[in-house]
Amino acid sequence: MNTLLKTSGILILILLSSCRSKTQEDQHSRVPISTVTREIDQEEEISSTDSISVIPIEHASFMMRLKDQVIYVDPVGKVQAYQDLAKPSLVLITDIHGDHFSPELLEEIIDQHTTLLLPRAAYDQMPMAIRNQAKVIGNQQDTLISGIHIEAIPMYNIRDEAQSFHPKGRGNGYVLEADGKRIYISGDTEDIPEMRALKAIDIAFVCMNLPYTMTVGQAADAVLDFKPKRVYPYHYKGTDGFSDVEQFKSTVEAADPNISVQLLAWYPED
Ligand code: ZN
Repeated sequence: MNTLLKTSGILILILLSSCRSKTQEDQHSRVPISTVTREIDQEEEISSTDSISVIPIEHASFMMRLKDQVIYVDPVGKVQAYQDLAKPSLVLITDIHGDHFSPELLEEIIDQHTTLLLPRAAYDQMPMAIRNQAKVIGNQQDTLISGIHIEAIPMYNIRDEAQSFHPKGRGNGYVLEADGKRIYISGDTEDIPEMRALKAIDIAFVCMNLPYTMTVGQAADAVLDFKPKRVYPYHYKGTDGFSDVEQFKSTVEAADPNISVQLLAWYPED
């Protein structure tokens, strides 16, 4: 078991920058982005504009720093999980389900400077009091917020038995781009063509749980297709327990040594 998973508290991961090169081949011949991990008791400032930090909260919820912006992704759960974190300048919501979207929590954790970016179906469930801070984005639309370019990527099920979980067009995955870094957040999806077609992704957060998203095998196959430099399995607890993220890591890294799979502590209570 990865030692990271044994540590308690909040892990912060700093991904130091390297310039993005012109072609995918060039990128993969470069030395991987170096990684520093350590435990922190509270949020820690990172001054360098070209660093990215990630704090997993739980399951699909995390905080990320990018271009000096604090971004919350799918914040749900108890307000205590967020009270020591900086207020977000941007909140990304992928879908309407309770493990991604908590209208009540949003009101407690944002401030008046926060922009919320979300699909129409989530907007329609937003409290009126914060709708003026929300911006709807649909699949394949893009926008620029605080110097971060954001494109909404489709997320949906393709297995017959799973079609009803995430119909195509309702939710969004996202690709964020800033300072030459491209970060993919899958949302709840299977190994759809739109994921496999992604280009020049530096960091990818990829779901894998059954029955709602995809198997470890599907996720590994897709990742080997779009070849992000670094992958974080997240959203990997299903109805029958955890997906085998160690298996995902060994499969991907054995098949393509240029892809690094990073296992973080996404389930602090377990
Ligand atoms: Zn989910």
